[in-house]
Amino acid sequence: MSDPICLFCRIIRRELPATVVYEDDEVLAFQDIAPKAPVHLLIVPKRHVEGLQALEDGDAGLIGSLFACLTRLARERGVARSGYRAVVNAGADGGQSVLHLHLHLLGGRPMDWPPG
Ligand code: 5GP
Ligand code: ZN
Repeated sequence: MSDPICLFCRIIRRELPATVVYEDDEVLAFQDIAPKAPVHLLIVPKRHVEGLQALEDGDAGLIGSLFACLTRLARERGVARSGYRAVVNAGADGGQSVLHLHLHLLGGRPMDWPPG
């Protein structure tokens, strides 16, 4: 269900602008407003799910759809061969700032490890 005050739900409902790069019945992908790499896309479920920490066993298909979208976008954006980073921040210690599940696709430069 959609949350009336959630930032990403509002983007999904087109109440807030975003540069959308992919959409289907289940998934929306758009550019991050403050990109941390030359390629920085966010892949989100259209259904409001707070994060990985809120997923249930029945959500396996949704996770598959999100990652299928991410790998497709990585190919389309030309980073599949050079490599990229797929990140999901979960909860306070994970550094999650928007409480609507999202995959980050980061690419176009070498990534450091470990993360901060
Ligand atoms: P988190 O820290 O929750 O893993 O990631 C949230 C991401 O959402 C951040 O990378 C941040 O730049 C991005 N973000 C925050 N507000 C907006 C917005 O209004 N529009 C878009 N496109 N991205 C946003
Ligand atoms: Zn939401």
